[in-house]
Amino acid sequence: MTDFDDDLSNDFDSAPVRLTVDLAALVDNWHDMARRSGKARTAAVVKADAYGMGIEDAGEALFLAGARDFFVATVDEGVTLRLYAPEARIFVLAGIWPGTERRFFENDLVPVISSEEQLAFWMAVLADYGDYPCALHVDTGFNRLGLHIDEALALVEDVSRPASFAPVLVMSHLACGDDPASPMNRQQLESFRKVSRAYEGIESSLVASAGIFLGDDYHFDLTRPGISIYGGEAVNGMVNPMRPVATAEARVIQVRTVSAGESVSYGRALRLTRDSRLAIVSAGYADGYMRSQSSGGVPLRQAVPQGGQGFFEGYKVPVAGRITMDLTIFDVTDLPENLIRAGDYIELFGKNILVDDAARAAGTIGYEMLTSMGLRHERKYVAEDE
Ligand SMILES: *Cc1c(COP(=O)(O)O)cnc(C)c1O
Repeated sequence: MTDFDDDLSNDFDSAPVRLTVDLAALVDNWHDMARRSGKARTAAVVKADAYGMGIEDAGEALFLAGARDFFVATVDEGVTLRLYAPEARIFVLAGIWPGTERRFFENDLVPVISSEEQLAFWMAVLADYGDYPCALHVDTGFNRLGLHIDEALALVEDVSRPASFAPVLVMSHLACGDDPASPMNRQQLESFRKVSRAYEGIESSLVASAGIFLGDDYHFDLTRPGISIYGGEAVNGMVNPMRPVATAEARVIQVRTVSAGESVSYGRALRLTRDSRLAIVSAGYADGYMRSQSSGGVPLRQAVPQGGQGFFEGYKVPVAGRITMDLTIFDVTDLPENLIRAGDYIELFGKNILVDDAARAAGTIGYEMLTSMGLRHERKYVAEDE
């Protein structure tokens, strides 16, 4: 090991907040989604720094596992990913803006064209630069990004479009894929079938993680899983079959003893009803440990009224009082005395507190927990056998 590596692992061992990313679980999850995608090819969505896991390491692991189609949100993400996924096709979901075209060409990135303005600009670019692939995003009811369906169908017939206009993919996105019972799924499927037929000979892609579980009809040529490969829940009300990938932990700074009747944290939201021991850890809402997981005083939260939980050596420990910017307090009264000490780490989410359970306690979704870790954490990559 070089000195440099030593320094890194020392940082990890004493970091206030640390994230362990299990690349073996990540790769397993991607293979799992590839199996569930049947005959379709399976891309990997690595936007938002691979859902907080780190686009460099996650992207490379997925490329080495065989992923050859990637989706990123921005051109910057695409430029970074290109170094780790040399022969992959990289689609940029935000599309192309005047002034960014060189970066697309130099890094071999494929813009996803999703509005009339982008389409007009892209046609002008092609007139100057000649052949270059693009993808077309067609809106089938989500009303976020995408060409209007009539526009997309008209474009196929439009003889005035440049000969060099060569989409390699038409895509759309489901609004309610996480709810298998929603009639919206069928409606969008029917609309997208029209698009897919009109663009005969060009690959089609409709679904993200959740939609893969809706079955073969929805798979088309390419699926686009994100959250499921990072171990998060895609479908509401279904037991999550994916392996957890990320473990977030925070270091205990102090364990203190407090008497019954005293209060804890801002606003005195928690009044202790028994003599208690409290562990104060160095993670707060600035580290993505959302204030809404506090034990009390957060009116927005409904799913888990008592707040979030951490985990330490076989014990679940509840958050005590309000979570603050840099610090969170856990009630460790039920642990054997002296089991937990300053310098130990409490799991915030991971194998024992599933990220989606932590998210529910915060009134949000696993996606937001994973992508909210902020700037202060240290990361380590491992590859654990199942
Ligand atoms: C984020 C995103 C995905 C991946 O979604 P998951 O629910 O994380 O699987 C796929 N397609 C598009 C267009 C997206 O924006």
